[in-house]
Amino acid sequence: MKRTIAIIGAGFCGTLVAVHLLRSKKPLSLYLIDKSGAFAAGVAYSTRDPHHYLNVPAGAMSALPESPHHFCQWLREHDYADWDAARFMPRYFYHLYLQDLLQKAQHPGCSLELVTAEALETEVKDKKVELLLSNGQKVLADSLVIATGVPTTKQLGSGAIEGYTPDIWKPSPQSLLTLPALSHLSPDTHVALIGSGLTMADAIMSLLSRGFQGKMTILSKHGKISESHLNSFPTFPSFIDPAHIPRTSKGLFRMVREKLHEAKKAGIDWRPVIDSLRPFTPTLWAQLPSIEKKRFLSHLYSLWNHHRHRIPPATAHTIETAHADGKLRLLKGRFVSLTKNTHSLSISYHAEGQKHTFEADHVLNCTGLDYSSIQRNPFLSQLCVQGLAAFDDLKLGLRWPTKGPVYVLGALLFGERFETIAVPELRKQAAEVAQHLLDTN
Ligand SMILES: Cc1cc2nc3c(=O)[nH]c(=O)nc-3n(C[C@H](O)[C@H](O)[C@H](O)COP(=O)(O)OP(=O)(O)OC[C@H]3O[C@@H](n4cnc5c(N)ncnc54)[C@H](O)[C@@H]3O)c2cc1C
Repeated sequence: MKRTIAIIGAGFCGTLVAVHLLRSKKPLSLYLIDKSGAFAAGVAYSTRDPHHYLNVPAGAMSALPESPHHFCQWLREHDYADWDAARFMPRYFYHLYLQDLLQKAQHPGCSLELVTAEALETEVKDKKVELLLSNGQKVLADSLVIATGVPTTKQLGSGAIEGYTPDIWKPSPQSLLTLPALSHLSPDTHVALIGSGLTMADAIMSLLSRGFQGKMTILSKHGKISESHLNSFPTFPSFIDPAHIPRTSKGLFRMVREKLHEAKKAGIDWRPVIDSLRPFTPTLWAQLPSIEKKRFLSHLYSLWNHHRHRIPPATAHTIETAHADGKLRLLKGRFVSLTKNTHSLSISYHAEGQKHTFEADHVLNCTGLDYSSIQRNPFLSQLCVQGLAAFDDLKLGLRWPTKGPVYVLGALLFGERFETIAVPELRKQAAEVAQHLLDTN
């Protein structure tokens, strides 16, 4: 009898687990299930906008840990004329790459069914797990892979508010971004973007590339736009001494700040210093007691994100130009509320101990991943109640299970691993999960 494996979520992680299992050529029956109806895509690679770029250069985006140049080889084979290992390619190309990998991995001995449905519930039945889907289908699986990612936005307002786009990746009828062209809008049109990270960068690229002439205001907690990558990628030697790792968030901050000062004095850019931490961040994170992790998330996480998750140079240039031309202003403050007036939307925020308000015609929610919503996710909660998975200590995601039948990967491991969001880490996790599944009889 063929073993049945159900993979929930067909973004990068779910797709890559399926690719590795198919490539093993073992007799398996696979279900790849996604509620969005898009496969080999997920939130990051569903976009069709050619101005939404990868924020990692092509040379570091191979989906296969054993073939580090695989994405570049694929670009070369598919005649993408202006590709380069150091270039930040449109994210849509990456979707085509993943789709091609999935298609080419298929073979007659292993069945793959793509299912468009939401996973709702599970029930344990004689060492198997029965999965109930929103289309009424039931899948009896020997193993489950949970690759559902993390919702992309914290909600800023309740219900539908005219002029407000709660999720720029799911444009609603009232969303500004559903309009094919924006050049006809009056130059007085004012768009507010709440959040200043990578989602904001995509939103601005969409607005400007479609002829938007109006004004934009970014509300940012730290009053800064995400930093940009360099066009080159210098490296910095590791400075982490495993015997002396700080166990407080303040201690970590001090350690990194001192190293940044040293680098600055030596004329070295700060980016490679931050990048040199990447292989160690899971260890640094794991050694922090829970209270210190909470402190880090409250006080330092947004500063960390600002430096760690950088935008491609071309995107940064477009945003800087809009800023210099007076089309874009930046406000520093913490979002408080969004209300609808007769002709506009009011955005309130706290800054320097005071409440401030400004008006806009449209508001785009660019607040990024919402880890705090994970513990309210009914499907994941039910998995935990049944003992098939467990929330991490901070309830920001799930624990890495040591044995089946349920495996978890991707951003859902944030609470445990911290650095678990980008392809260089996720490709290893996908290969590891597939190997666990193949090793299990
Ligand atoms: C806008 C954006 C751009 C990014 N750009 C890059 C980049 O350039 N380079 C890089 O390395 N990383 C990038 N990332 C990081 C990105 O998170 C990872 O690269 C990767 O795509 C995450 O994949 P995933 O499979 O874990 O999750 P996701 O891509 O979020 O996929 C999860 C899937 O699960 C489905 N799902 C959720 N719940 C259910 C359910 N109950 N039932 C059925 N289906 C369900 C969803 O519909 C979704 O398709 C980007 C992220 C975002 C949001």
